[in-house]
Amino acid sequence: MRKLTNEKLFYAMLAMGRFSLKREFGDMNYFHNSDLEPMDGRKLPGPVHDSVVRSLYKDQKSLLVGTLSMFVAPLVLYFRTHDSAQLWFSALLLLCGSLRLIDGHWFKQAAVGALDSVAVKRWENRYAILASLYVGVLGLWCFAGFARNTDEFVHLMGVALTLAYIVGVFGRNFSSERVVQAQILCAGVPMIAGVLLKSDPYHFILGLFLVPLFFTIWLMSQNLRQILFSAVVTAIDNKIIAERFDIALSNISHGMAMVSAGGKFVVANSRFAALVGLPDTLDTLNQGLDILPQISATRQANHANAILLAEMCQECLQAGQAARFRHVLQDGTMVETSYNPTAGGGGVFVLEDVTERLGSEEEIRKLASFDPLTHLPNRRFFDLEVHRLLMGRSGLEPCSIFFLDLDNFKDINDTLGHATGDKLLCSVALRMRSRMPEKGIVCRFGGDEFVIVVPGKMRRKDCSALADQVSADIAKPMVIDGHTLSVGASIGIAQCPVNGRDYNQLLKVSDVALYDAKARGRGCHSFYSDELGDVVRDRRALENDLRQALGRGQMQLHFQPLVDVNSGRIKTCEALLRWQHPERGAVSPMVFIPIAEEIGIITQIGKFVMEKAAQNCMTWPEDISVAVNVSSLQFQQSDVCALVKQALASSGLDPHRLEVEVTESAMLLNIAETTQVLSRLADSGVRISLDDFGTGFSSLSYLHQLPLDKVKIDRSFIENIESDEKSLVLLSGVTHLASELGLSITIEGVETVEQMQILRDKVHVDEMQGYLFGRPVPADDIARLLQAQSKHRDISYSQLQVAV
Ligand code: C2E
Ligand code: CA
Ligand code: CA
Repeated sequence: MRKLTNEKLFYAMLAMGRFSLKREFGDMNYFHNSDLEPMDGRKLPGPVHDSVVRSLYKDQKSLLVGTLSMFVAPLVLYFRTHDSAQLWFSALLLLCGSLRLIDGHWFKQAAVGALDSVAVKRWENRYAILASLYVGVLGLWCFAGFARNTDEFVHLMGVALTLAYIVGVFGRNFSSERVVQAQILCAGVPMIAGVLLKSDPYHFILGLFLVPLFFTIWLMSQNLRQILFSAVVTAIDNKIIAERFDIALSNISHGMAMVSAGGKFVVANSRFAALVGLPDTLDTLNQGLDILPQISATRQANHANAILLAEMCQECLQAGQAARFRHVLQDGTMVETSYNPTAGGGGVFVLEDVTERLGSEEEIRKLASFDPLTHLPNRRFFDLEVHRLLMGRSGLEPCSIFFLDLDNFKDINDTLGHATGDKLLCSVALRMRSRMPEKGIVCRFGGDEFVIVVPGKMRRKDCSALADQVSADIAKPMVIDGHTLSVGASIGIAQCPVNGRDYNQLLKVSDVALYDAKARGRGCHSFYSDELGDVVRDRRALENDLRQALGRGQMQLHFQPLVDVNSGRIKTCEALLRWQHPERGAVSPMVFIPIAEEIGIITQIGKFVMEKAAQNCMTWPEDISVAVNVSSLQFQQSDVCALVKQALASSGLDPHRLEVEVTESAMLLNIAETTQVLSRLADSGVRISLDDFGTGFSSLSYLHQLPLDKVKIDRSFIENIESDEKSLVLLSGVTHLASELGLSITIEGVETVEQMQILRDKVHVDEMQGYLFGRPVPADDIARLLQAQSKHRDISYSQLQVAV
């Protein structure tokens, strides 16, 4: 029971010790030290018990002095009293003291190494028995003094020396509660008994005072023991923590060093030593940072690095601010050092070998910076690089930016496939690269867009020459996958500082210039100017409005009659689209149709026209057809057959009343496929006209291959017909050829009576179209006109016009 109480006390003490540790180190894992945990709640933890027993045996000198004094004291009393018992006590005390000294000697020999818990226990018991024996003899000696003598000196000597010895016990043996208790009991009981033997009130009072005295001694030893135990526990814990730190520090891949305010190492791990070229065996503790270059110098390894590293570390220390820097060692290792100052001055250095990490970062950076297809820099990298290269103190240095876009690349991609398109882009990239002037950089911005930047001042004509050379290089035919391809390029040019000093702004305006180059017919280049900016801005606004026009009901169909030369009556009306812009008024289809083609809404518009035209034609007399213009892009981007079929089905129009007008460009883009589509249309009964004949490439060779019904000869052929004989000869030739091929012939743009007469008399022509016969008019007007014509079956259109 008593033991249990003591151990409880001990664990309470242990908890106190931990508490103080906790305060010092925070609530960390290492604190839960299994070595210190009591296994069954009854035994003293091994390391503490060991220390306790060692402390018991430690003070052999004072034991010797005590033994000698206590040998002499009874002898002194013998000479005074001649009591022979004193001789016996003297001998007994000497014997017990000697036994203790011998036991102490043996302990010293046995306890050189570590003691197991059984041995510790045994030695403690031995000590307790011998010490109790000794103190018991002493107590008996004191008791005998009172029992056998009346001499006050004997009493005084007995009490004084026993008390003195007990005080010594407190000093020597406080660490073992058992030993202290046993000795206090063995000395105290006979001493108090001896005093009480006197049986007078004063000795009784003295006896009573002795009880609290012994108790106090016991308590004080208890307190002292607590302090000792705390210290022992703390020391052990600290040792374990230090060991664990050491293991952790030695095993992390980072080099770590803690430096005091005075620039001395407090802690450094072996990785740190390795990275700065210090020998592994060197004890860096309390060495200054200056040790780095010194030691490294003798090893001749990484010397220069260590000096530099040490200098940088010194600088960090002096600056007292967190810092991070990279440093390359002689063997190529890249070390990243970070420094963080600590609260009391000094700081912690963490060194990391970042060679591998940076290597892969570099790889990733490369991947992220280059276009994998053409191996040209990509836009992201290019932007950064141009900034780095061209940024001067006062903005962008002089340079020229060429924004290049391939013409018709999309068509090639769409018709021949992406794989061929990719190869073409690679060839273009290669050609551009080989044409680059010194310092010029070319980059693929995405799709078929490329940007070239040439640093330095460049004259306008040199820019033009470069642009022409690049386009000429690109335009040279290339054979890809068995196809001989040729692609043009349009280039927009902007220059710093003429067109601005901001890189992004320059890019933007070079794009504007490109826009202009494209609008001017592709394959050419344009320089940016502020006026151009206005034009382009205006055009962009127009584009935006055009996107909304259909939805907002701003589009309307007008119809223009085609008049049969023989009967003089209208046989067909051509549907012509009109855009009534809320601010700009009527916008010509010559303007908005190409824009619609470019911005990709021509299919949408074409559908609207086809459907509306068919619907309108249904309201006309049955012998009247409608002609609808179909853009060549519609053939590429949509299924024209399906479109026609759908329009005919929804309107209920007979296919024979529909004429589709196509231009030569539709054939040129993909003759095989267009021919197929047109044949299918022709098979369904729809008639096909070749529009604007003579303006395009006029490759007459394919005329007979196409399922054509009609050619519409462009009005440029009749412009000078009244005055120029040659024009007439040319026109006659063309019409003759067409009629030989069995095609019906329409001549467009007939504006005057003279033109009409010449055509009628000298040229073979079936139909005429032009302002002379009527301008394109809204659907209601044409419907009214056609109703009138069908009422007067026997009069010609010109007579009808007069009549109407
Ligand atoms: P186009 O197919 O050659 O249409 C004939 C153009 O000539 C019309 O111009 C017409 O108004 C004009 N014209 C007719 N007679 C005369 C004349 O005696 N003298 C002169 N100077 N011009 C005459 P518009 O309506 O401005 O159309 C221009 C072009 O726009 C058309 O040329 C056609 O290529 C295109 N276009 C018009 N509407 C559509 C459409 O719905 N779809 C498609 N894809 N293109 C259309
Ligand atoms: Ca037409
Ligand atoms: Ca035409």
